[in-house]
Amino acid sequence: MPYEGEFATGESLLSLERSEALREFQGSVRKREEADAPNPAVLTVPRNSWMPNRVVAVDGSTINVPVDNGFPMADVSLLKVALVSIDLSKLNLREREIPSPRVFYEMERAHTFDKVLPGANIIRPNVQGDTPKDFFREVVQETLEGKIGAAHESLIDTVRAITANRERVGKRPRCPVEDCENELGIGEGRYECGCERKAALYEADIFRFSERFSDVSSNGEAHGEVRHLVEVLSLVNVLRFFASKDETLGYLRDNVFILDGPLALFGHAAWLAPYVRDEICRINDKCRNKGFDLAVFGVEKSGAFVEHFNQIDMTPEGGPRSKYAKKTAIALEARYINRNIALRPEDAKPHGKDTYFGRKVLYKTATGDHAVITTAIANEASRDLYRNDEPCYPRVGDILNVLDHLATYLYTDGFMPLVRANAHAAIPLRRGTDIIHGLFDGSHP
Ligand SMILES: [Zn+2]
Repeated sequence: MPYEGEFATGESLLSLERSEALREFQGSVRKREEADAPNPAVLTVPRNSWMPNRVVAVDGSTINVPVDNGFPMADVSLLKVALVSIDLSKLNLREREIPSPRVFYEMERAHTFDKVLPGANIIRPNVQGDTPKDFFREVVQETLEGKIGAAHESLIDTVRAITANRERVGKRPRCPVEDCENELGIGEGRYECGCERKAALYEADIFRFSERFSDVSSNGEAHGEVRHLVEVLSLVNVLRFFASKDETLGYLRDNVFILDGPLALFGHAAWLAPYVRDEICRINDKCRNKGFDLAVFGVEKSGAFVEHFNQIDMTPEGGPRSKYAKKTAIALEARYINRNIALRPEDAKPHGKDTYFGRKVLYKTATGDHAVITTAIANEASRDLYRNDEPCYPRVGDILNVLDHLATYLYTDGFMPLVRANAHAAIPLRRGTDIIHGLFDGSHP
């Protein structure tokens, strides 16, 4: 990357023209034969006019800010994850604009997790021999000890509950404490390593976020991984809350649950994805006994699947978004995804096998918007990534109704519940920077 204000002068071109590297480069652009243009399976979805009472949407944000311009560098992030419940009975569904803030005040309830995540060179002044990494580990633990409501279990309780039979985990990770050779000890909440120093361990250490922690540069990525885990755990926590009692199970039938982003876990927390999948299947089994399935999905606004949808919904005559009729749902199975999107051999390991707890559907809404969604893997059919018939997508008709009715004209392919969740989760950069600097005012004489 060039420095700011720096422009290429062309001097380098002279030597580049004579260079071996240029002459020897053998690459060519991979082209597709016309005959094997992608032709994904269109899903036949019986439709009705069902709408949920409420939509519950989860979204989060982190902004990373350097807190001291001196040396060495230091950084913290502001984390905010919002869980917003929108009462659709108060919404006029014929108006596709977003209602005024006053209307939302009456129709929605929000819970937010707020936390300041420490990064490089931030320590606890009252802890002797403290390190930034240890501080970060403790704050991750505190974050996961958060609850959505007094009656809910905490997020770390959710982790403990869904991993109770951890037969999948092979070797324990190493102890995160500096210079400790032990494997990570097992315990609940806050406990001690079995080593001589009896160093502090946290239940959240199992996520190994500290392995991504840097003592010398920005920790935006490590903090972003924490945020994504909090988002996914908030969703699972809320589903478990309603599934825990027979009296509240009906909420899972009458409401729809939405995550901003795909139903997946990446990075250090990815090991939890199969447990989330099992838990959603367990909850769905409970619902099935009462005659319904869960309506849980994720919405992604960018990435390879969004681009792929744009590419295939095109004709030479009509241009972009001219190929598929409105209300077309396309169901993707593993071979198609490998061949056309992941660009791997068809029989390679299915995309998302270890990280996803949802199945991809491309949907062109009633108004012609594009929606790339993942519907929750909630039953045996959806676990089979080579299948893409209707049983793989529980409640898909109901989910598509929600997409059709809650699109918004304000943003291309915008979706009202996520616009609202984002309104609660987003931190304006300038304001967030001021907040963070305020925290450290006076701490440096
Ligand atoms: Zn240790």
